[in-house]
Amino acid sequence: MGCVFCDIISKEIPARIIYEDEFAVAFDDVNPQAPVHVLVVPRKHIATSFDIKEEDDALMGHLLQVANKVSKDKDIAERGFRLVMNCNREAGQTIFHLHLHVLGGRLMHWPPG
Ligand code: AMP
Ligand code: ZN
Repeated sequence: MGCVFCDIISKEIPARIIYEDEFAVAFDDVNPQAPVHVLVVPRKHIATSFDIKEEDDALMGHLLQVANKVSKDKDIAERGFRLVMNCNREAGQTIFHLHLHVLGGRLMHWPPG
């Protein structure tokens, strides 16, 4: 089965990549829900947050560090931003390669939809 995010990571399909390193890639969401909407993904294919293994603990911490870096680079760190990780169908997960949404640049509401 193909994976869109694996294809973005391997540059087989284009994306606006704003950061990448040995373990993670960050790129603009193609259908942004806020002025800043970046997806942070591990290079390793992990389907959902429920599939995170103990060996992935450092990787997950790294994704948070990358999200922080993105928020600084996009100038939303001080104003505030929201991190979202949807897990499975009722949460609205559509791409089964784990990803963090970094959303900001507008006032966020709570509870989420
Ligand atoms: P989720 O609903 O949490 O699985 O989020 C998947 C996100 O991936 C959605 O916000 C989509 O807009 C985004 N998305 C899907 N395909 C692409 C793509 N080719 N490039 C960038 N973002 C994408
Ligand atoms: Zn994948």
